[in-house]
Amino acid sequence: MTVDGNLRIAVVGAGIVGVSAAEWLRRDGHDVVLIDRNQPGQATSFGNGGIIARCSIVPVPVPGLLAKAPGMLLRANQPLFLRWSYLPRLLPWLLPYLASAKRERVVQIAAALAPLVTDAFDEHTALARGTPAEKWLRSSDYIYLYTDRSAFDDDAFGWDLRRDHGIVGTSLTRDDLSDLDPGLSETYKFGYALSDHGFIADPGAYVGALAAWFSAQGGRVLRAEVEDIEARPDTATIHTDGETIEVERVVLAGGAWSADLARRLGHRAMLESERGYHVEFAEPSHTPPCPYMIADAKFVVTPMDAGVRAAGVVEFGGLEAGPSRAPTQLLERGMRRLYPNFHYASKREWLGHRPATVDSLPLLGPSPKSRIVYFAFGHHHVGMTAGPKSGRLIADMIANRRSNVDLSPYRVERFDR
Ligand SMILES: Cc1cc2nc3c(=O)[nH]c(=O)nc-3n(C[C@H](O)[C@H](O)[C@H](O)COP(=O)(O)OP(=O)(O)OC[C@H]3O[C@@H](n4cnc5c(N)ncnc54)[C@H](O)[C@@H]3O)c2cc1C
Repeated sequence: MTVDGNLRIAVVGAGIVGVSAAEWLRRDGHDVVLIDRNQPGQATSFGNGGIIARCSIVPVPVPGLLAKAPGMLLRANQPLFLRWSYLPRLLPWLLPYLASAKRERVVQIAAALAPLVTDAFDEHTALARGTPAEKWLRSSDYIYLYTDRSAFDDDAFGWDLRRDHGIVGTSLTRDDLSDLDPGLSETYKFGYALSDHGFIADPGAYVGALAAWFSAQGGRVLRAEVEDIEARPDTATIHTDGETIEVERVVLAGGAWSADLARRLGHRAMLESERGYHVEFAEPSHTPPCPYMIADAKFVVTPMDAGVRAAGVVEFGGLEAGPSRAPTQLLERGMRRLYPNFHYASKREWLGHRPATVDSLPLLGPSPKSRIVYFAFGHHHVGMTAGPKSGRLIADMIANRRSNVDLSPYRVERFDR
């Protein structure tokens, strides 16, 4: 314990979740070391769509997915890919994941995601205000683009669920869309605009700037690989490939790479990488007025500072394999479908790893096996949105501050045998 009674704490992983936890813990007066093998914000938090999606309470597995998935895997123009050689390793995760698509279960998952995402813009503001990171935080609408009204009606399950949680948008006709974005293809004739959303105009720079702020205010950023965590009732030893660190609390926020350390701490994380891609186009001929979700192709288009970013696709293939070509080609074709005359000066392609649990909910809270260890990973498609709130909840738990969020759906031990 430090002289003033606050704690020595290690946060493992400097993505949006770990950086948020570290900064909220520092603001509470703790002595915090933030450890990452990379520069902060350079993994999944770097290349995401950047959307602060307070509407994102509907998980990927929804009723009907099971019937559609095999056909999607066999067609190259669909946003679902599988490296077939990875299937045997994937199956123990895939089966419970697909089983979570039942209607009653999806309703429960949405109810558990809602408190993490619906006030996300306020949570980002509370974290970033007064720091250099604030300049990348943009408030905006978020528009779902559909080929026509009937395609929107086909998504009624998700929109009804969102409406039950107070998330309601405004319908946009083809004329409305043309007024907003004159270059938009005739393919998209219906839009649904959600207000009170936002985006991060450079997610990697944003997380990096938050980490730099944390360090400038007295936190410590350590670049090292965490190889093991040895937890005792009151203290823990963090073994890195450099120094060994003694602390009184540990927060494991290693994103998609957390399962191995979780296992060493006695827990089954049921975590997979849902690989996703972006293509970012510099000096693009067309820039959307706000982020779009292209509903039929399931990717987002965000007006980033460096250009237009198309991000999305789900590919199963694990953490080790290099990028595939087909997903980025699909994203590029999707941009030409969105803007028929789309051109640009240069492009950058990126592969990232969404930390995906079988129930689409993060592991967030203390380990019952060692109450000084906290997990904060498994944020799937919504980590950029929910990172700041998750980090604050961890700081609240460590401070024994009561929260009005029901934390039971995020229990760390729920997958243990
Ligand atoms: C294509 C794509 C688009 C997306 N779009 C959006 C979006 O628009 N909105 C949204 O809300 N979310 C989006 N997401 C999801 C979001 O990016 C993730 O949920 C989020 O970035 C996860 O953050 P994290 O901090 O948990 O993990 P990460 O950002 O991956 O950070 C984990 C860190 O832990 C470090 N680490 C792990 N293990 C160790 C170890 N043993 N030793 C040292 N360091 C370690 C890693 O190096 C890494 O830096 C998208 C994801 C993808 C792939």
